[in-house]
Amino acid sequence: MLCAYVTHADCLRHEMGATHPECPERLAAVHDQLLIKGLLDYMLVHDAPLATPEQLARAHSPAYVRDIIGMSPAQGYRQVDPDTSMNPHTVTAALRAAGAAVLATDLVLGGEAPTAFCCVRPPGHHAERAAAMGFCFFNNVAVGIRHALDVHGLRRVALVDFDVHHGNGSEDIFRDDPRVLMCSIFEQGLYPFSGDDAKGPNMVNVGLPSRSGGEKFRAAVTDRWMPALDAFAPQLIYVSAGFDGHREDDMGNLALVEADYAWVTTQIMTIARRHCGGRVISCLEGGYALSALGRSATAHVRVLIGAD
Ligand SMILES: [Zn+2]
Repeated sequence: MLCAYVTHADCLRHEMGATHPECPERLAAVHDQLLIKGLLDYMLVHDAPLATPEQLARAHSPAYVRDIIGMSPAQGYRQVDPDTSMNPHTVTAALRAAGAAVLATDLVLGGEAPTAFCCVRPPGHHAERAAAMGFCFFNNVAVGIRHALDVHGLRRVALVDFDVHHGNGSEDIFRDDPRVLMCSIFEQGLYPFSGDDAKGPNMVNVGLPSRSGGEKFRAAVTDRWMPALDAFAPQLIYVSAGFDGHREDDMGNLALVEADYAWVTTQIMTIARRHCGGRVISCLEGGYALSALGRSATAHVRVLIGAD
């Protein structure tokens, strides 16, 4: 069984200025490494569709969806927050990125692939129910999860988030939804300065100090995530796969390496095989040091396709 690879060329056309770290080259860095390592031979490539307003409104307020689509500039840039801006292609890229999570959900729940990797941008996990921030417009993974719950009728879905930044947007969207267990590990004291106080009983938030390294990261997964995930017994697992905790990435200082990303993916697959037939959907979030991003995402995908 192959892993679905969901992406779209439109995701390369959104850009926020020549020096912005969330740049189109990020997707090429991942794609090139997957190609060079031969992993694309084991993946079913799909073009991401555009998410519909109805699909987006399962995770965002309908007014917010309308506002974001309506803010698209005809030319130049439109600033959304101090770090986040739109160019004329941003809305289409954001609709593709969220649509990728919807298609991945249909593919995995339809039995066409046990796992999926959405190689998309803009990322999503900082986007709240009614706020764009931190390079994010629509919360891709949240749109996929609500599609699994509301359209496919699943009752228990887990979201694991190992981006170096706390996924405040996903927490905002799922804080009152007992159908979702969210497990996150993030670096304390970093943007968006949330996560230390979990916003609901369905949140397992683990903040780690700067320079924790792989050993403390792995201990947090083993001690905090794994028992909660086992007790929850998810029917499907989503991953907010951010690789900005890598030691070469100056967005954070967790000092992780490729082997840590492979290891955590193995733990996620262990839970998935135990409870949900190995079904895992991963969406790219952060990761800004291009070489480290490509190598780390490849280490992650290698485990998703069962090559390790
Ligand atoms: Zn991040």
